[in-house]
Amino acid sequence: MRLEIAVLEGDGIGPEVMAPTLALLETLAPEAGVEFAFRALPAGAGCYRDTGEALPEASLDAARAADAILLSAMGLPDVRYPDGTEISPQIALRMAFGLFAGVRPVRTIPGAPGPLAGAPALDFVIIRESTEGLFASHGRGVVEADRARETLEITRATSEKLFDAGFAMARRRRELGRGRGLVHCVDKANVFKAFAFFRAIFRERAALNPDVAAETAYVDATALWMVQRPAMFDVIVTENMFGDILSDLGAGLMGGLGVAPSADIGEAQAVFQPCHGSAPDIAGKGVANPCAMILSAAMMLDWLGERRGHAGLCAAAARLERAVDAALADPAARTADLGGRATTAQAAAAVAAALTAQP
Ligand code: ATP
Ligand code: MG
Repeated sequence: MRLEIAVLEGDGIGPEVMAPTLALLETLAPEAGVEFAFRALPAGAGCYRDTGEALPEASLDAARAADAILLSAMGLPDVRYPDGTEISPQIALRMAFGLFAGVRPVRTIPGAPGPLAGAPALDFVIIRESTEGLFASHGRGVVEADRARETLEITRATSEKLFDAGFAMARRRRELGRGRGLVHCVDKANVFKAFAFFRAIFRERAALNPDVAAETAYVDATALWMVQRPAMFDVIVTENMFGDILSDLGAGLMGGLGVAPSADIGEAQAVFQPCHGSAPDIAGKGVANPCAMILSAAMMLDWLGERRGHAGLCAAAARLERAVDAALADPAARTADLGGRATTAQAAAAVAAALTAQP
């Protein structure tokens, strides 16, 4: 099978973490039973500076037509839109392709210096609704002389898709032996009518997915429990802003941005990208941790494999994830964000070696 992958390497450390990731995918292609055609597409702050467009129409069209989209990081501190806002074509992509499900795994990485070091390993997933909620008025909030307003919008259609994605994810994790088939709807239904609506739709979808356990929780309590008893979670589905905040908390728990992958999934397209930004403070030094990008690529392989019923891709995804774990178990493979001294190239080489060493 030939798969066309749109590659948006963007700005800052983006190209530095993308290159070794593509090399690993090439290594995996034969055993996965696929051929990758990588198509580099211009986008980001550098592209905006050079062409006046952060996400050229041609890039958007090519990304739409690709089988999957890999994105590393976009944005530069000194390049902004005329109104002063950050250049973030990620949001444009999310809206253009209706990428409503932001998947953020929270998984303990060996050797990552998380605050829960020594505690039992974590393995749960947050799915953040990514197109509405408290971001519904994104960029269109109203500011008057003495008050400002933003809109919270929850729609039935998107909520149903979000919850169904949560139940499907819980089922998949149970199949893989990673979860017990449990979805938590996280909201603030005790205070806001919009969240009571959200929760009511969750209950409806739960009734249609009786093979998966369904629970509800308030977002404030969830923040506490993610730290105090994270093992209670399997799949969390939540509103956009709550998911934004909880997934950064999750990245903190698992050892930082350098190891936190993500996926933004819609009905037809999906974008796989690390949770981190372009890290201008370390760009060009060759010391960025490539693992978040590599783990995002592993999520892409699994998504492609599942969608196409191609077991070889799912197996390759699991192998790549295991190779990252095996590599990072050795302190010599850890970059500075993990307390080590490895360069990007050394960390990536360790992952490649671990991949070869696997049975
Ligand atoms: P954005 O607004 O795009 O999310 P940001 O300003 O929040 O970006 P990042 O660019 O993610 O932040 O950087 C935050 C900090 O984390 C920086 O100090 C950066 O060097 C560090 N960092 C981010 N990604 C990595 C990585 N892959 N390896 C090592 N350090 C990283
Ligand atoms: Mg940020």
